[in-house]
Amino acid sequence: MRLVLLGPPGAGKGTQARMLRELAGIPQISSGDLLRAAVHEKTPFGLEAASYMDRGELVPDELVLNLIDSRLGANDAKEGFILDGFPRSVAQAEALRAMLLKRRGKSLDKVIALSVPDEEIVRRISGRRTCTKCDAMYHLVFEPPKKPGICDKCGGALYLREDDSEATVRNRLNVYNATTRPLLDFYGGLKLLAQIDGMGKPEEVDARIVATLDGLLPKNGAHKAARAKASRARGN
Ligand code: ADP
Ligand code: ADP
Ligand code: ZN
Repeated sequence: MRLVLLGPPGAGKGTQARMLRELAGIPQISSGDLLRAAVHEKTPFGLEAASYMDRGELVPDELVLNLIDSRLGANDAKEGFILDGFPRSVAQAEALRAMLLKRRGKSLDKVIALSVPDEEIVRRISGRRTCTKCDAMYHLVFEPPKKPGICDKCGGALYLREDDSEATVRNRLNVYNATTRPLLDFYGGLKLLAQIDGMGKPEEVDARIVATLDGLLPKNGAHKAARAKASRARGN
């Protein structure tokens, strides 16, 4: 299954992508995570990307497209993937179409757009905490860690993303509305779009998504085999 998750910052794309990756046995590919890893490594590329991310602007396409293209070429993405945070503009969507076509002529199966009102986005982002060591994510109110400030899974320290400050979030919402929202029409026109209400508990949102993926997910039990296969493809 080749899936795209769309939605404003903080809508729950990462949370849902992680649930689906377990269910479908395919990797979650987050452009934000890939970019933050490059920033963390302080490569010249990462330093350039950071200057855009800190302001809540989109990182230029030539940087992002290379990152995504090489990630899509990895073994574990052969059977499918869940793209989270990419594409973010019509130009990126066109580039994605070309990337998939050159790889065995594949195309997307579905685009899920999460809708969440602005005031809920601010609540979700201001409480978001991320682990410095693993990719785990928490929310101070909705999904608190057992010990404050400490990751349940690995004991790493939790931090508030620098670009999750209120002023930057406002700018990210503006960027979403101006540049990313047009993708709803773009994918609607291609008959790929399913708009999903992102309000409610993560499990409730997950159930709505799963209901629209009818026929695309492995049948009951089969997801275990799919997961084992994906794990073998990753070489572990
Ligand atoms: P969120 O989870 O809040 O939607 P992300 O982690 O996806 O945020 O992205 C964080 C930042 O990384 C964005 O504000 C932007 O600067 C950059 N970024 C992520 N994905 C892309 C992309 N596809 N194109 C350009 N910039 C991106
Ligand atoms: P995105 O990837 O779209 O930026 P995240 O998945 O990182 O969004 O979620 C943003 C924050 O909101 C996180 O702290 C997460 O724990 C929390 N969150 C995600 N889904 C829900 C939900 N359905 N209800 C309440 N909080 C949620
Ligand atoms: Zn952790």
